Amino acid sequence: MIKHQTTINRIFKLSGIGLHTGREVTMEFLPRREFGIAFVFNGQLVPARYDMVADTRLSTQVAAGEASVATIEHLMAAFYFSGITNCLVYIDGPEVPIMDGSAWEFYHELWRAGIYEFPESGVYLKIQRPVEVRHNDAFVRVKPLNTLDITMTIEFRPPVGKQRKRVMDVENAISIINSRTFVLHEEIEAIKKAGLAKGGSLENAVVIGGDSIVNPQGLRYKKELVNHKILDLIGDFYTCGYRLLGKVEAHKTGHYLNNLFLREVFADPANYAVY
Ligand SMILES: [Zn+2]
Repeated sequence: MIKHQTTINRIFKLSGIGLHTGREVTMEFLPRREFGIAFVFNGQLVPARYDMVADTRLSTQVAAGEASVATIEHLMAAFYFSGITNCLVYIDGPEVPIMDGSAWEFYHELWRAGIYEFPESGVYLKIQRPVEVRHNDAFVRVKPLNTLDITMTIEFRPPVGKQRKRVMDVENAISIINSRTFVLHEEIEAIKKAGLAKGGSLENAVVIGGDSIVNPQGLRYKKELVNHKILDLIGDFYTCGYRLLGKVEAHKTGHYLNNLFLREVFADPANYAVY
């Protein structure tokens, strides 16, 4: 577990295709002395922070001024798993590249860049009393605990069905980092009609067909889909700027509810302590 603020030890670049725009995007990662992760797009600083989140429909998007950056959640999860608290990401498009649909390549590159540690602490956000948000039958609730412990359940039509997963040692959960995003086959047409997912393919998403997985290689893990929902939650939660400590129970949650949870936490200073 990290104790202090950190940044990357060297500058690096990473390119890939944006899931929704279908265009190539290049990101340049720079060390940052100031606390937090932030993007720079068209000269505009866009903090990757919960209160800058402007859209949560298909991904988590942050916006400031005229600039917006979408699909930040997998990259944010990679920052979490890498133990990086401060970083500037110069990006030349409105969307973080999808890579293989997981956080793996981001994580790998951050790991290769190495960590530089600052003397300042204040990187943990400990939940001090139960906080819960709901939307229809979906919910996220977090109770006080000295570590991060996540239990996630999802429910989709067969062949996915109901899946439940608990991760107690979140910081070392490699199977979460490389679990890919997924989509139901019948949803693809509507998404494409809306002009989105132009870059989507079997190279960067698990596609769930009528009664089986469409990808010829199948799944990376039996619980890859629920793993990915945990990955999304970790990435979304990291937009609070801190490493959250608490016992998380989440059911059918998504980007909207994950963001609503953080807004609820910060609405009352009695809900949390930073150290
Ligand atoms: Zn995702």
